[in-house]
Amino acid sequence: MNQPIYLDHNATTPVHPDVLDQMLPWLRDHFGNPSSSHCHGRAAAQAVLTARESVAALIGATPAEIVFTGCATESSNLALLGVAQALRGPRHLVVSAVEHPAVMAPAAWLREQGWSLTVVDVDRFGRVDPLDLEKALRPDTALVSVMHANNEVGTVQPVEQIARLTHSRGIVLHTDAAQTVGKVSVDVDTLGVDLLSIAGHKFGAPKGVGALYVRNGTPITPILHGAGQERSLRPGTENVPLIVALGAAARLVQQALPGLADTLLQRRDQLHRLLADAIPGLQLNGHPEHRLPNTAHLSFPGVSGRALLQEAAEVAASLGSACHSASDAVSGVLAAMQVDAARAAGSVRLSVGSATTSDDVTRAADALVQAWRRLVA
Ligand code: PLP
Repeated sequence: MNQPIYLDHNATTPVHPDVLDQMLPWLRDHFGNPSSSHCHGRAAAQAVLTARESVAALIGATPAEIVFTGCATESSNLALLGVAQALRGPRHLVVSAVEHPAVMAPAAWLREQGWSLTVVDVDRFGRVDPLDLEKALRPDTALVSVMHANNEVGTVQPVEQIARLTHSRGIVLHTDAAQTVGKVSVDVDTLGVDLLSIAGHKFGAPKGVGALYVRNGTPITPILHGAGQERSLRPGTENVPLIVALGAAARLVQQALPGLADTLLQRRDQLHRLLADAIPGLQLNGHPEHRLPNTAHLSFPGVSGRALLQEAAEVAASLGSACHSASDAVSGVLAAMQVDAARAAGSVRLSVGSATTSDDVTRAADALVQAWRRLVA
């Protein structure tokens, strides 16, 4: 059988061939430690600097504001725990109800350490109302973390409006942008955030590399202790090949945007239209407009999402977040959106990527429709 049509780009993306080409010499030929002062070290340091400049340019930051990490989970842990440590003493933290575990778990850990935690609800589209967030703020609120876009339903949060609320009160704002960087334009000044998490493998770099944007002047201390790499915020010898790959992926998507977002949107909407035309009662989860251009989280009537994906073997997609796809429990995101149990059980996340063709979409829609018909017959 041919490879199934890959519609799981929110879980991870294939490594872009140009990224691989630019990375391989740093595995095969160049081995220097960027801290060494001889020519091998200087070449590695220059490669890391070039990557830093590319990642910074992609999000409107300065190179000195980029900290390379091992993944977006690490970036968000560094953001929350590093700021909490720098501020000394338990304070108040606010997160949204639809955060990825990369934020939810460190927030819960901070609560165990004496911080108070408010989890702000979302509406039925998965969106935070800035008025609700404002109500949650207190005189001792030190940190707010609201994701830029949700990995399951794709809803984009009103981060700019939230930034106006936090900044006027001197509160540090973090956003988990693992799902937006590489799909839509992201600019840290437009968003008004102090910290922003990036995942390389969501936009054509390999797994195992990420970055944290740290606005100049943000209070933050390291959570790992060692030598002085990454301005001491992420000590440990830099992973030069993966950092090079992240920089290459950043340059590629910067060239491809904004046309890329339009292409993703066309493919996503084509897929949704083909399915909706053939399947009466198909429902969209997530915001109809404020949504990632590549994500269609759909509830298929009368079937379970798991059975549908098993039946439609020609399609590789997920039930919700890839991290939870082994479990049948209703996802925390859908529960927060108050999606009823039957609708949640029938849901599937379809996420297209830059290489998804119109023909892929037609064939995937056909496979899903045929599978659904067999199951409900
Ligand atoms: N945040 C969001 C929104 C994600 O979608 C993911 C990955 O699924 C992560 C964080 C964690 O990324 P990583 O597994 O690269 O640490």
